[in-house]
Amino acid sequence: MKYDTIIIGAGPAGLSAALHLAFHQRSVLVIDRRTGPLPFTLTPLYNVPGFVHKRGVDIIKHMEQEAIKAGARLERGNVQQISGAAGDFTIQLESSTIFQAKTVLLATGVARYHPLVAGSYQPFLPYAAKGNTYYCPDCESPELLGKHIVVIGVGGANSAIAEALPLLEFAASIRLLLTAGQDFKPEWEEKRVAHKLEVIHGQIAAIEGSRGIITALILEDGARVTADGYYVSSPKFPRNQLAQQLALELSERGHIKTGWRGQTKLLGAVDGDWLEGVWAAGDVQPQTQQVSIAAGSGNIAAVMIDQYLQKKSPRKLGI
Ligand SMILES: Cc1cc2nc3c(=O)[nH]c(=O)nc-3n(C[C@H](O)[C@H](O)[C@H](O)COP(=O)(O)OP(=O)(O)OC[C@H]3O[C@@H](n4cnc5c(N)ncnc54)[C@H](O)[C@@H]3O)c2cc1C
Repeated sequence: MKYDTIIIGAGPAGLSAALHLAFHQRSVLVIDRRTGPLPFTLTPLYNVPGFVHKRGVDIIKHMEQEAIKAGARLERGNVQQISGAAGDFTIQLESSTIFQAKTVLLATGVARYHPLVAGSYQPFLPYAAKGNTYYCPDCESPELLGKHIVVIGVGGANSAIAEALPLLEFAASIRLLLTAGQDFKPEWEEKRVAHKLEVIHGQIAAIEGSRGIITALILEDGARVTADGYYVSSPKFPRNQLAQQLALELSERGHIKTGWRGQTKLLGAVDGDWLEGVWAAGDVQPQTQQVSIAAGSGNIAAVMIDQYLQKKSPRKLGI
């Protein structure tokens, strides 16, 4: 079977697109390997219309169920290869299963690093988005109101300050724990001093806490770092491997460059010279990373895909 559309990624972008396309009676397959943030987010989200106070895991389950109910098929798997052109794409999973589609939507999101604990990110996972850890200043900073916060720098020292500054509007105090990059550019050092941000240098050796709540980070030198909440300042890497296989144009930071309706273009092509049959949506585009924005961009891409398919092969479903 050749699907009208294969969507890679079942985050808010991919599922919102799947819902629209399935509702419009397109055959849609969504493939996902479950590495997005929401299935692991046990804390409530406060800025997603229709879902305020709902946990990330519940929001994404609900979106999945709605897309499936509308007629989309959801397949668990890791897409390793994509090839072909408009009307005839081939997508291969790690399991070697192959699927075919007329159009594709890349909604693969971004990857984030968690802090290392004794050299491994695994011990941090029981706490990541489970209780008092935070990752997204635009989404979560009001939750820090009146709290004493440690920003854990997992990437560059300058990025840690850049992410800490907006949190200062809400937090009672902020300290920076730099576990990776240690040096500030002079302009960032000036800002650090101006805002009286204390810096702790060190590696995390162990976490004290339970049920997703961190009570202290124990550093290699034995120091005990306590706070009400821990904000993770982590580099974000767009998951662009499939886009690279299709030779799509990427931004400097590796996001897929798109038109505002999610259209993509080949490397070196000018805006307007969009690639037929391939769209991108969500965090993998250069845009603010939020659930509603991802869902909205998935929706507009799906509208475009549906209109494209209509033009290619008009249907007469009413008779
Ligand atoms: C801890 C945390 C808290 C957050 N809190 C908020 C909040 O309160 N409010 C808010 O608005 N936003 C929040 N965000 C941001 C929000 O979660 C993202 O902006 C949103 O999930 C992006 O949606 P997306 O569909 O673009 O990508 P994602 O949700 O990342 O989904 C992409 C999907 O693609 C899949 N995938 C990637 N590559 C492949 C492949 N090769 N094969 C198969 N599957 C693949 C992944 O498994 C993943 O499921 C938070 C993010 C984090 C990390």
